[in-house]
Amino acid sequence: MTLHLSKGKEELSIGLMGGTFDPIHLGHLVTAEEVRIQFGLDRVIFVPSGHPPHKEAREVSDPEHRYLMTVLATITNPFFTVSRVEIDKPHDKLTFTIDTIRYFHDHFDKRVKLYFITGADAILEILTWKDYQELLSICSFIAATRPGYYLNKLEETIGAVCPEALSNIHVLEIPAMAISSTFIRKRVSEGKTIKYLSPESVTQYILKNRLYQDED
Ligand code: NAP
Repeated sequence: MTLHLSKGKEELSIGLMGGTFDPIHLGHLVTAEEVRIQFGLDRVIFVPSGHPPHKEAREVSDPEHRYLMTVLATITNPFFTVSRVEIDKPHDKLTFTIDTIRYFHDHFDKRVKLYFITGADAILEILTWKDYQELLSICSFIAATRPGYYLNKLEETIGAVCPEALSNIHVLEIPAMAISSTFIRKRVSEGKTIKYLSPESVTQYILKNRLYQDED
């Protein structure tokens, strides 16, 4: 993937949108677009997770399904692309965000500034992530929250252990994050409509492949 600096710009800013995307929904897409605009990002690369350490592999859908749904959802936005870097890792190997960030850090020109975008609840756990100090030094974090999320939670939890990390974590409230992947999976399993929660192509993909029919 080659990226060129646009005329007059001294630094490229890239957002890495990390998540399970099981399935991807409008909340994720609105988040990525809002962050792109607010932070002046040149591109947002969606990175469907491989096998993150906090989840059993059987808890999530097949990586190929999650990748394809992410491609379908992002196809109409010229600033969005999708990376296979995590899902192509062997399924029995855990995928750590530090390895993903190092991959992009090494891959791009050194003038590229990286932002890792994900849910605030995930970032709340960042001090338990592998090599979190290095992570916080080579990348900025954007934590997307649902309305009503207690923002001080991040400050209290992370600030108590690592106050300097807070300057590198930006919090953004996104009303559309009221939609959640869990909610969509539950509705499918109950035979309810999921129209307008994800792009139509993703909804059709879910129905065609009979995903989430047997959720508890
Ligand atoms: P999760 O625990 O399934 O999700 C936590 C919350 O964040 C959920 O409410 C989720 O909503 C939301 N969320 C997830 N991705 C989001 C995104 N891109 N934008 C906005 N909200 C998002 O989290 P996860 O998806 O498994 O993990 C998030 C990212 O953190 C992944 O890239 C994962 O690899 C990384 N991670 C790394 C480590 C590590 O390196 N040690 C550990 C844990 C997580 P939805 O369910 O609606 O998406």
